[in-house]
Formats: sequence, C-alpha cells, structure tokens
Amino acid sequence: MKITELLDNATETQFSFEIIPPKRGGSVKAILDIVESLVELDPPYIDVTSHSAQVYYEEQPDGSWKRHIKRKRPGTLGMCAAIRGRFGIETVPHLLCYGFSREESEDALIELNYLGIQNVMALRGDDNGYRKPLLSDRTRNEYASDLVRQISEMNAGHYLEDLMDTVATDFCVGVAGYPERHFEAPNLTWDILNLKRKVDAGAAYITTQMCFDTEKIVEFEKKCREVGITVPIIPGLKIFTRKSQLQTLPRNFHVQIPESLAAEVESAKDEHVFDIGIAWARRQCEDLISAGFPNIHFYILMTSRYVKEVVIPLRKLA
Ligand code: FAD
Repeated sequence: MKITELLDNATETQFSFEIIPPKRGGSVKAILDIVESLVELDPPYIDVTSHSAQVYYEEQPDGSWKRHIKRKRPGTLGMCAAIRGRFGIETVPHLLCYGFSREESEDALIELNYLGIQNVMALRGDDNGYRKPLLSDRTRNEYASDLVRQISEMNAGHYLEDLMDTVATDFCVGVAGYPERHFEAPNLTWDILNLKRKVDAGAAYITTQMCFDTEKIVEFEKKCREVGITVPIIPGLKIFTRKSQLQTLPRNFHVQIPESLAAEVESAKDEHVFDIGIAWARRQCEDLISAGFPNIHFYILMTSRYVKEVVIPLRKLA
C-alpha cells in the first residue's frame, strides 16, 4: 500500500519509525528484533535510511595516512524487503542523489518495483567529501527534485533510455522538509519554495527533519499551505536521551534545542535525561495530535525502548 493510502485510511494519528541498516557485514538480527518489538505499536510503515560511500583516512605505521572509500551501511533495499516479508509492514527505502548515478537509481527502482515496494523517500544526501567519479555515459541528480522527477518519469513509463515494452512503475514518493530551514538555504521561505519544486515534480508527502519545537512545526505547515503545498506533512520527532545530544544534534542535524528543554537536560542527572526526553516527546505528540497531523514519524535508529514509553500511553488514550 502507498503511504498516501495508509494516511487516507487512518482513523487516528499513527506512528511510523525510521531505522538504519547494520554496519557493512553486520547481522540484520538486532534490527529485525527492534522491528519485532515495534509490531505492538502497529506502525503503518517503517523507513530505512540510505548511506552513500564516504572517505576515511587511516594512519599507517610510518605516520602516513591511507585513504579508504567505504559505504558503511549498505543494505537499505534488502532490509526493506526483509521487514515487509517477515512482518507485513510497509517499508520506505531512502534513495539518494549524492553517491549514486541516475542509472544506479533507475536500477534500484526496478529492484523495488519487482519486490512490490511502492514507496520511496527521495533525498539529496550530504556532501561527505566523496563525489563518486562517473563513467562518461552516467548522469547525476543534483537536487532531490531531480530524483523525484526521474521517479515520476518512470511512473509515466519513461526510463532513461528509450526502451521497448517498458512497464510504468507506481511509486509513492516522499521528500524531506525542514521546519527550521535546511542549513544551506538562506531563509525558510527560500527553502519552502524549493520544497514546492519537489512536490510539483511529483512528491506525494513530506516528512520533516526532527524538530523539538512544536510551534515551529505548526508554523512550517502553515507556510507550506500558503505557497500552495497541499500534500500531507508528517512531523519528524526524536527523543532526547543523552546530555551529549545538546551538542551532537545541532551539529549533525542543524536543529535547535528549545531553551527550556536544554536547561532541564543540563541540570538533570545523566540517568534522568531520557525521562525528560520522553515527557517532552509525549507533550509534542499530544500537541501534534490536537493540531490534526495524520502521522508522527520517530527517528529511533537503533532502539525501540524510549519510543515505546512515549507511544504506548498515547495509544491507550486514543
Ligand atoms: P534538496 O531538497 O535537494 O535541498 C538541498 C538544499 O538545496 C536546500 O537548501 C534547498 O533549499 C536547496 N535547493 C533545492 N533545490 C534547489 C534548486 N533547484 N536551486 C537551488 N537550491 C535548491 N541523508 C542521508 O544521507 N540518508 C538518509 O537516509 C536521509 N534521510 C533523511 C530523511 C529525512 C526525513 C530528512 C529530513 C533528511 C534525511 N537525510 C538523509 C538528510 C538529507 O539528505 C540532508 O538534509 C540533505 O542535506 C538535503 O537533502 P534534501 O533531500 O532535503 O535536499
């Protein structure tokens, strides 16, 4: 089922989750165990992130540095198929522009089509210092809107080459939105107009970057509607669990931590930080449910423990 259909059919706000594939060569068991523990929350779908190759430098015994290029976490498509096959939960594989040619994206979409996976999240990715050299006959998508356009073309039966007897795919495409603006955009309005390009290219829904300030999410939705974006907007939340996240979340995800949350976390004992994070996320959910958002998306990555403490009491209330 498409995400848009799942949202249309929902009679109450639902909770979806985002996980990451294991490190290269690692066992998939721990992640499938996480998914199994989420089944009782009845998630409409689960996103699996994608990771392009990165450059690593390793110091050698003679003091020189060796350059490695490694895709640390492959396996997005396989994990999506495994989760769907084992638990019957719809999955959303993430596809990236950076690190992949358009030809490789087309191949991935063909695989997904044959696997019966109808949903994809189209993202640009971040510049991690490695732009893979392309063969002369390969092409690249620069922005997520270019990738969305490529998928829309396939949905209309047009592949990169003119081919005979092609089938039109039927993908439902999600894209990323940023209530606090994307860090490269000069302002929020600029960024929202670029978000509209993605929707105009065929995106059917938007999932937001994690945001700890519910008012900013509500304001973001309002601004999107003002420029004519009509597709569903799904707020992304993360549960604060460690003091170090006061620095790592702003550094890695370019998000702000509201003053009152930061102050509460800073003055708490380490072992109480997740209690604060759980209470904060639960309040955000209650406010977002009251505001009528159809779905809330949790970035859980490697553990289901905290999100269950947030969602189970909310589901009982509902
Ligand atoms: P785009 O929509 O292409 O936008 C990137 C920037 O370019 C923005 O500043 C935008 O305003 C600007 N822009 C867009 N179009 C134009 C244009 N035509 N002209 C000029 N400027 C333009 N990263 C991963 O590596 N793997 C993942 O699995 C992953 N999952 C994510 C899931 C979600 C829900 C979110 C919010 C982010 C995720 N990311 C992931 C991070 C994402 O790749 C980065 O935030 C990246 O920097 C931007 O991706 P985008 O798709 O939003 O890019």
